[in-house]
Amino acid sequence: MSDTRQPDTRQPDTRQPDTRRQELLIFARAAKGFMPDDEGLALYDAALRAADASPAAATLMEIGAWCGKSTVYLGAAAEATKAVLFSVDHHHGSEENQPGWDHHDHDLVDPTTGRIDTLPFWRATVDGAGIGSSVVGMVGDSPTIASRWCTPLDLCFIDGGHGAEPAWADFNGWAPHVALGRWLAIHDVFPDPADGGRPPYELWTAAIESGEFTEDGECGSLRLLRRVAPPAPAPRPAAP
Ligand code: SAH
Ligand code: MG
Repeated sequence: MSDTRQPDTRQPDTRQPDTRRQELLIFARAAKGFMPDDEGLALYDAALRAADASPAAATLMEIGAWCGKSTVYLGAAAEATKAVLFSVDHHHGSEENQPGWDHHDHDLVDPTTGRIDTLPFWRATVDGAGIGSSVVGMVGDSPTIASRWCTPLDLCFIDGGHGAEPAWADFNGWAPHVALGRWLAIHDVFPDPADGGRPPYELWTAAIESGEFTEDGECGSLRLLRRVAPPAPAPRPAAP
């Protein structure tokens, strides 16, 4: 994964007209959300790689969509490669988005329910970008969806709740679905606790220590891991 803090001067990707690629990346840059452009471009590149590695149309997964900023970076790669991006969010915000927390945005509160509702904003972003035929929104609780999911993933991007409980639930629920040789991306990985919360960093560390994943690039707080061993079997429930 390249560090793309420089202007985006890469060779055009011939799978997608360069004008369309630029249009989508400009759109992503302008969308509301928590994805710096260099990290978004690195995510886009990772999704292209994942799609290239897949003999069939790739399956991409996003956990934590908010208003759709990262969805557009990933969706742009999905469109270019005829992949499908599934984008999971209950759209009521994480703990850190609730009133009184640092990442609260009052404009996203639905006045009738008094709750955060990012779904209309996510939909406006996806429709505005024109990527609706490459992106499927799944509205609901991420671990619940993970527990029923069956399709092997070519790329899974984890950027959901950042508290210990939701972050581990996402990791335990989704990492096993990443196919052998394919990629897991984790956002907001901060080795120095002064830079941000611990759980995403702990997931990243655990993934490497498990021996199932190897480091495969980074940009800012985005970490890319590649599955090199099959998932360990889930522990059996204890006998009654
Ligand atoms: N990737 C986004 C930022 C995601 S913020 C961007 O580029 O801007 C984290 C998101 O995770 C929030 O929208 C929140 O609603 C979602 N989330 C947190 N816990 C969740 C859960 N258990 N199930 C589904 N979504 C969840
Ligand atoms: Mg994030």
